[in-house]
Amino acid sequence: MVISCGAARASIVPPGSIGKTFVAGYEATEASEITGMHDPINVRAAVVSDGTNKIALASVEVIGLLRDVVEMVKDRLEARGFKRRNVFVFCTHTHAAPDTMGLWGPRLGVSGVNRQYLYFLVDRIVACVVEAGASSVPVTLHHSRGSIKDNLVNFRREGGIDGTVDAVTFKDEEGRAVATLWTCTAQPEITTRVNTEMSADYPGIVSGLIEQSRGGIALFALGACGGQSPECAEQGFDRMASFAKKVFVAVENALAGEARVDGDSLEIREITGRIPVQNGNFLIMFKLGIFKRDVAEGAITASVSKWRIGNLHVVHLPGEPFPGLFERVVEPVEAAGGHVMVASLTNDAIGYIIPVGQFRLGRIDGSTKWLDPAKKEGFIGHEDESLGPEAGRIAKYALYELFTYKKVLAIGAHADDLTIWAGGTIKRLSAEGNEVTCVRVCDDWEDCVGVPRAEAMARNKEECEAAYKILGAADVLHLGYTSDYLAGLDGGEYIKLRERVVRLIRQRKPDVVISFDINGNDEENMDHVVVARAVNEACWQASFDALYPEHFAEGLGIHATAERYLFARNPSVTNFHVDVSDFIGEKVEAACKHVTVMKNFFHQYALLARANKLHVELLEDPKYDDWVRANLFIKLLYGEAGARHGVRYAEEFNRIDAGLLKGLARDES
Ligand SMILES: [Zn+2]
Repeated sequence: MVISCGAARASIVPPGSIGKTFVAGYEATEASEITGMHDPINVRAAVVSDGTNKIALASVEVIGLLRDVVEMVKDRLEARGFKRRNVFVFCTHTHAAPDTMGLWGPRLGVSGVNRQYLYFLVDRIVACVVEAGASSVPVTLHHSRGSIKDNLVNFRREGGIDGTVDAVTFKDEEGRAVATLWTCTAQPEITTRVNTEMSADYPGIVSGLIEQSRGGIALFALGACGGQSPECAEQGFDRMASFAKKVFVAVENALAGEARVDGDSLEIREITGRIPVQNGNFLIMFKLGIFKRDVAEGAITASVSKWRIGNLHVVHLPGEPFPGLFERVVEPVEAAGGHVMVASLTNDAIGYIIPVGQFRLGRIDGSTKWLDPAKKEGFIGHEDESLGPEAGRIAKYALYELFTYKKVLAIGAHADDLTIWAGGTIKRLSAEGNEVTCVRVCDDWEDCVGVPRAEAMARNKEECEAAYKILGAADVLHLGYTSDYLAGLDGGEYIKLRERVVRLIRQRKPDVVISFDINGNDEENMDHVVVARAVNEACWQASFDALYPEHFAEGLGIHATAERYLFARNPSVTNFHVDVSDFIGEKVEAACKHVTVMKNFFHQYALLARANKLHVELLEDPKYDDWVRANLFIKLLYGEAGARHGVRYAEEFNRIDAGLLKGLARDES
């Protein structure tokens, strides 16, 4: 595979016909209608592809965009062949563009968002991404790092300045820049509080200078920016120009020392979770609709994500993270030669993300405020502009997860078991760079219609391997037990099956085991029950140093499996779901590789319908082939599961993990 990239730029200056827009950024004191333009605001986009996966990067010169607006962009780009998780819309956070969030309206309590402008903006972002994709050429990647530390202030931690300037350049075969994604940790807030003219602030100037000197399109993203500003914050346009020059010099110096990034495939990871809204002011703004956002049970949904090519990792967060949030997560990756770039305000704007250890509460003027003890007078407002302390903790754990690569051992009884119950999850895990081994316990000699035994076994094996290949399995193993006879294993034979699974666990050392749920109380397939029993027993027996000592003589050691995802056939034990919306197509495709099994599956369904005197056209009419049937069946079933969790498609599991140990092991940094 080869990486390709295209880039484009488009103006997002509101056309006159759109009506009033308000300047967003500084604490609202009075109506600040936009009166003119100091310098233009733009969207800049790049599309990066490895031939299989493609991502859209869009840098938008506005204060921030909430999740609902980004979802509109994703809807439109999904129709252009982008998976939703592969769309990254990040805002530069200029404090001199039209209000796109709502906080800076004509008066307190009234949203400052001009909806017409938002729709215009969505159109422009989508068009710019499409244009970028159309100009793709093969590229090489180059990472550079510099610093602008001496020209920044950190309002909370003296000496705690993170002045990182990062850049990744995508160059065509002649060595010309197609796109440069660059980051800086200083908030673009050099315009003054009384300014009413549009401006992209320093990032707009610097991107323009990079484009002039290097060619291509320069996309800016905020780095770990919480509490960090230019030394000339709020001092106006003259100081902005001189600060921009310093940043440009820092970028140029960094680019001079660039390092080639090797890698020919794109990996995309996304973690979505719920963050409680602990900040009462935010809750009021959500409820009043000033910030347009769904708040259910006092929490909001948010995602962190990462894309990776070779040893370059670009992490995207939905708010403004403080320096310190990343250190422990990133250090080992960088120590091993990796490059990690941080892009804030991506796909949402949830406020400051403050590490738990830096979060402070106290009393000022008789009322409880979140404050910083480093300042004598305490309160400086960052805590008040965050969701609360839980946001930092949750973001930190998600960051760890983004950099954790797992070994997965998936064990099914029959050829189609893993595909049907966990195919989307397996595909998602493998697509996110985890190593998956799939195991089939039985031989599927009988899962066919009118096919002789030996041929049925051969076909099902071949079709199973084709399906698991689509799901991204690195290895497929067949244990060869006779299907539909597992319940007849005598005591010794069962112990042997269990020993084989223990051996597999000790050999493969999985972090995650995926298999049947032993609590599936509506289970009528005894092969499934026996596999559930053997696998779940083996998971804990593999860590006993007294069991199967013959393994140790072979050089194997004990192994404890961190997590089990068990197909939850009984909804009362479903405690975990995996959003497989972006992978449902691959799941259907994999299911359709099980041609022999699917034929029998729908044949059985047709017989059941007929036995009930029902005529089901979908099953009887040959014009519907098994692809149509599988597509409908899978989407109906897993769409229902998705609806239970607020996503389009989900697979549900009974997850067994560290349980209460997690509460005892909290990292408060
Ligand atoms: Zn089965």
